[in-house]
Amino acid sequence: MLIHTIKEVREKIEEWKKQGLTIGLVPTMGALHNGHLSLIKKCVEKCDKTVVSVFVNPIQFCPGEDLDKYPRTLDADEKLCKDAGVDIVFAPSPQEMYPDAQMMSNDFFTYVIPPFFYTDKLCGKSRVGHFDGVCTVVNKLFNIVQPDFAFFGEKDRQQLIILKKMVKDLNIPVQIIPCPIVREESGLALSSRNKYLSDNDKKNALALSKILFNIKACYNNGITDVKALTETAYSYLNNNHSLEYLEFRDAENLEEKKTADDNTVVFIALKIGDVRLIDNISLARG
Ligand code: AMP
Repeated sequence: MLIHTIKEVREKIEEWKKQGLTIGLVPTMGALHNGHLSLIKKCVEKCDKTVVSVFVNPIQFCPGEDLDKYPRTLDADEKLCKDAGVDIVFAPSPQEMYPDAQMMSNDFFTYVIPPFFYTDKLCGKSRVGHFDGVCTVVNKLFNIVQPDFAFFGEKDRQQLIILKKMVKDLNIPVQIIPCPIVREESGLALSSRNKYLSDNDKKNALALSKILFNIKACYNNGITDVKALTETAYSYLNNNHSLEYLEFRDAENLEEKKTADDNTVVFIALKIGDVRLIDNISLARG
């Protein structure tokens, strides 16, 4: 069922809560692909009722980013959700979520601001304010849907870590379920932004997963020095790539690692033309 208003979602949620049903939420920005579908399937399996939100959240885009051209495919998204057994597709307008457009600055609107230690690095460094927008909208979605479980992909691992921290710090009664990255056979992590890539860009985009897989293989062979592991990346890069970061960080609190261990995640972001792609890999064994 496609719903556009908060009021209608609330009515349904109230009905389900009265019946004692468990509710799962999968927040998305739409243009759904098999990565999203893996979260949706997990949710449908685990919960009595599944809500998928489809909302391109304006306040998590920075000036100059792709808000206007972000792919919007609601009809196809709705069909995919229906086939997967989703109970509600919640697709609010920006006006429904942020009724007064002038309130979109945090001078006039209540924002949820995650700790600076988590947001001053990796994607937060170039996307200033991005995680404030993410935490604010996810908090709003939690208040609207009141889910028992919420499903997030490890594809956006910094986001996942920050949201877990928000839930813990603010005592939000929801359990976050992390879901593994879904990749194409080539290794490329699925992303709605892959739609922007030409065939040639896609070939160049394989550098992300190749770099990460190679680092993991080197780590498994006993190399733990981060400097040495980082150096293995450069042979995969050419002048079509603009590397934004390649960093080794703690899986729980994003602290920088000088020596890799099983609690390390390797994060990478690079640009191919105008398209910015991210990926990551955990070095945990077994
Ligand atoms: P988005 O629509 O990009 O905001 O993504 C919605 C959710 O799907 C987020 O929790 C993402 O981490 C997750 N997601 C996106 N791509 C993938 C993928 N390739 N594998 C697993 N989860 C993904």
